[in-house]
Amino acid sequence: MRARAKTLEKILGQSWTIERELADALAIAKKLRDDSTSRLISSVLAAIMIAWIGLPIVAIIWIGAVVLNEILDRIALRRLAQETAPTHSRLFPYFINIFAGPTIWCAVVMVLVWTGNGANFFLAIAILTGTLIHAFVFYADSRLQTVVAAAPVLVTTSLTIAYVITYSSIPYSEKFIIVCAMITVTAYLMAAGVQNIRTHEALSDLVAQTTEIAETDPLTGLQNRRAFLQSVNTWLQSQPNTCILFVDLDRFKPINDEYGHAVGDQVLTVIADRLRSSVGTRNVARLGGDEFAVLLSFDDRERQLEHYIAQLHVNVTAAIPSEVGNVIIGASIGYAIFGEDGSTVSELLVAADAAMRRVKSDHGNPARFDVAVDGARLKSSALEVAFERALENGQLVAALQPIARARGCEIVAYELLARWQNSGLGHDPSPTEFVPVAEKLGLLDRLLLTTLNQCLPSIRNSHTNLAINISPSQLNSDGFLDRLQATLESHGVPNDRIELEITEQIAIRNLERNIARLKDAKDNGFKIVLDDFGTGYSSLSMLDALPLDKVKLDRSFVLRARSGPRTRHVLGATIRLVSDLDLECCVEGIEDEATAILVSSYGCSLIQGYWIGCPEVVTTRPGVISAPTDLERPAA
Ligand code: C2E
Ligand code: CA
Ligand code: CA
Repeated sequence: MRARAKTLEKILGQSWTIERELADALAIAKKLRDDSTSRLISSVLAAIMIAWIGLPIVAIIWIGAVVLNEILDRIALRRLAQETAPTHSRLFPYFINIFAGPTIWCAVVMVLVWTGNGANFFLAIAILTGTLIHAFVFYADSRLQTVVAAAPVLVTTSLTIAYVITYSSIPYSEKFIIVCAMITVTAYLMAAGVQNIRTHEALSDLVAQTTEIAETDPLTGLQNRRAFLQSVNTWLQSQPNTCILFVDLDRFKPINDEYGHAVGDQVLTVIADRLRSSVGTRNVARLGGDEFAVLLSFDDRERQLEHYIAQLHVNVTAAIPSEVGNVIIGASIGYAIFGEDGSTVSELLVAADAAMRRVKSDHGNPARFDVAVDGARLKSSALEVAFERALENGQLVAALQPIARARGCEIVAYELLARWQNSGLGHDPSPTEFVPVAEKLGLLDRLLLTTLNQCLPSIRNSHTNLAINISPSQLNSDGFLDRLQATLESHGVPNDRIELEITEQIAIRNLERNIARLKDAKDNGFKIVLDDFGTGYSSLSMLDALPLDKVKLDRSFVLRARSGPRTRHVLGATIRLVSDLDLECCVEGIEDEATAILVSSYGCSLIQGYWIGCPEVVTTRPGVISAPTDLERPAA
């Protein structure tokens, strides 16, 4: 049995698999199809010659057989391309076909040889040589196919040699020369064929190795995300009973930090093995860090699926023996079912990820995606993917909204607001939706630099200031001010024309450090503005603690002021308080003339809102800021 397996391995090659044979067959079949015209032309030429040398019936029968073979060729190729059929049944008609082709050519060779006529004999030898070349050159991608295609030709060559030696009336000396010549040509072509096959195999091994390196995670040997998406997509086309699991380990980071990377690596390797060997698992990928994706298939959803997943959970969370003793690790698992929770692998993965995040926050058992509960999470992760791409594709653009003097309405500054255009999503997300996403992805700086580069040329050519929104994480990041200054410098805009709008959020953590950074910024010429004052937990002590130049009262002040004299009084008192602290005061959300007059009468120096001007996307023509001109302004 083993000896047979060894012989088979020798014939087929060490890395032979039926899938690889199929891939080779598909590649060769394409060449065969492209070559069909030249095959038909040479068949017709050969048929004319056969008829010419006095065998018209043979020529007709033979050309009929060739045409029939070409038709079968098409049928075999169609079957070969049928992705849903089992592999062996795709290959079988193809092999019959590549055996039948040379057999038909060999049949005519035998007929020509048996006539005993010298001219016929030479034509037979020419056809035989051509067929040999075809078999050894054309099918060299696969040993099996070369053997199948060359077998009838080699048998015919042997029979022809036997005929020459035993039956023909040729003199011995000539027999000797003919036989030697035939053996030499055949041996030469066989050697060339073997060489061809070896070269091809070495090349495809090399390709397989490089593909494997590009597609696998070096630590666990699992597929990476890209390879997983690709292979699962193919799988989904033929296997509907499929489910994708998103597995995220719990407490992995502390273990890695406490016991070191060697133990961390050991844990990941063991988990990978356990996932791979769980019942129902078809494919596993390491998506990154301590995240894994599992492709699970099942026959009976009601009885098997939950059981498989529960079993996998138990396997993964069992104690892991390591050099520091048993390590216990948890796993949060979310899953999504093909056809119900998504129809592509990306959709399933996003849904399973959303379910996993719910499980993680609830410290719960594996759970299936539920659109009612996980919808919001799903939305945010889809937004994350889309945002990153949009930033790269230039879909995030700068818009400027004017800020004017309350008396006279002269525009003194613009606020930079980001806009996401042509998102291709249901609606273009607003900054309140995508700014938190950008912050989570650490892309706020890139967003700011992108939009700054778009609007600074216009700002440089005007006399106005520019207000930019800065998040606490940006302020805290190393080198932020340097990067900002470098960008301003590259556009020739001095720091003292820039206002940094911060919110009270910066007081939540590291207040001392944030104050120091703001002082630093102020020393470098930037103006500091407290934005959205009046929302959240406005504390008056903030006005004192921060090195401010200006305070912007939130739109909600204006909204509340409409409801009665008491709230109007609060607005007036706040404006006066800000002025008493020697800070400039700007009121946001001014949507009509009456409100503008009201806040101006309270002593507010600056106003911003749709009545002054809406945020306008910056045009690509530097120097042009679309200022609102068609609005009625309050009297100076
Ligand atoms: P914000 O800094 O308070 O900006 C003012 C917001 O109020 C803007 O909304 C603006 O379009 C809106 N607005 C201005 N005038 C009126 C008005 O008269 N009536 C009403 N109803 N709304 C008015 P937007 O552009 O949607 O931005 C929302 C928030 O997103 C901003 O609030 C800001 O905190 C943040 N944001 C926007 N762009 C950026 C950015 O590029 N970077 C950062 N970090 N945050 C940004
Ligand atoms: Ca702002
Ligand atoms: Ca604001």
